[in-house]
Amino acid sequence: MNIYNTMSRKKEQFKPMNDKRVKLFVCGPTVYDDAHIGHARTYISFDMIKRYLEYKGFAVFYMQNVTDIDDKIINRSAEVGADPEKLARKFEKRYLEDMKAVGVEGVNFFARATDHVPEIISQIETLIEKGFAYETETGVYFDEAKFPDFGKLSRRNLEDLNVHRVNIDLTKKNPGDFALWKKRDEEPLWDSPWGTGRPGWHIEDTAITEEYFGPQYDIHGGGLDLIFPHHEAEIAQMESASGKSPMVRYWMHTGFLNVSGEKMSKSLGNFITIRDLLEDHDPQVFRFFVLSTHYRSPIDFSEKTLEQAAKSLKRIQKTVEKVNELADSAADNSEDDAYFTELLENYRTKFLESMDNDFNTPKALSHVFNFVKELNKSFEDKNPSEKILKDIVAFFYEFGEIMGFDLAGKSVASDEYLSGELLDIIKDIRQKLREKKEWELSDDIRSKLTDLGIDIEDN
Ligand code: AMP
Repeated sequence: MNIYNTMSRKKEQFKPMNDKRVKLFVCGPTVYDDAHIGHARTYISFDMIKRYLEYKGFAVFYMQNVTDIDDKIINRSAEVGADPEKLARKFEKRYLEDMKAVGVEGVNFFARATDHVPEIISQIETLIEKGFAYETETGVYFDEAKFPDFGKLSRRNLEDLNVHRVNIDLTKKNPGDFALWKKRDEEPLWDSPWGTGRPGWHIEDTAITEEYFGPQYDIHGGGLDLIFPHHEAEIAQMESASGKSPMVRYWMHTGFLNVSGEKMSKSLGNFITIRDLLEDHDPQVFRFFVLSTHYRSPIDFSEKTLEQAAKSLKRIQKTVEKVNELADSAADNSEDDAYFTELLENYRTKFLESMDNDFNTPKALSHVFNFVKELNKSFEDKNPSEKILKDIVAFFYEFGEIMGFDLAGKSVASDEYLSGELLDIIKDIRQKLREKKEWELSDDIRSKLTDLGIDIEDN
């Protein structure tokens, strides 16, 4: 199978470093607000990628970092008067719930930046020792000039870059030198060999991947916006610290999601969180919409495209229902079987070829859709046997598994999501009753929840 590598700007044959084992790292969220539908686009795409790699027989270990210390978190905490750690934990929890709601469940390990400060410090020490980083009164910085390959992923060169850069921190040697450690004396802070402070943004990812994957691994993903400067900085840090190149075999980047042709932003009033979306849309329909566009292309969200996705998914679900029904009363053998076997094999091959070609889901979906059309037409005058009908259903289920669609027609994820939300409402009401000293009613709620197997402890 082929994967487009941002580094070479080409599709390359996929060969992991370790035969059938794949180490996949995707930049996770900065947890200061609810995740939006652009995040969902990126993470649904990588979820499909993991699912397909597993279908092909690879054992994939998928890791995401969680940026739980950052200026955005500190600024948001100050705005709302919250403790930065509590705020980050709250939005991390909500992020995990949102991902589950849209069927993204394949991440094997989430690594928080704040749980890896010793690894971060150790990588910075190596960079200083090897002469790639230096300390000033404001922090520790990566010395871009020491890494001549800087810009190889985004195809920019340092001299051109520096023409437009202004050095706002005059303690740095060059304007593009980026912070590995920020010296600070206000919370949240950690001790380090350079005094108290906190890590820069780029270093958390390479410290985390080095810890669990080593200095070289198979796939690194994220949205297109991360190519420069984030991923460029990661390459500079890791390749300088280890002396090994390439840090990553395949760089994969998702295109951006826009809303009705415009960039999503709070100021434009077109900002849609995953929670907003799921108030009146089925998560499976959103997945179908996301996967109807190639993961590298931009995608435009609108009610109209979502309606189209809902119709297409319904049509496939209805066909699966029909094939299942026909199988219940079909004969053991039929002279039409050769026809259906060929039809199935033909579309199955086309489906897999599209997926092998850099996960071309729109193409793959169009083959499934044509298969659905031809099947429905042939049922008018042909009678397949039970066996071939079961093979057809098996293909649809296989397809559903790869894309993350429940082709039985019900949305399990949204039910679970709803029950979690409902429980929060019930807990909230009970808390309010307790504040009003309505003990009898609040005990009654607790005992009814206990009957359902849900224990509530007040402490
Ligand atoms: P952030 O929390 O902003 O650091 O983003 C987490 C991930 O979501 C990164 O891989 C981003 O590239 C990706 N992302 C953010 N906004 C969008 C968007 N509008 N469309 C697609 N991906 C996005």
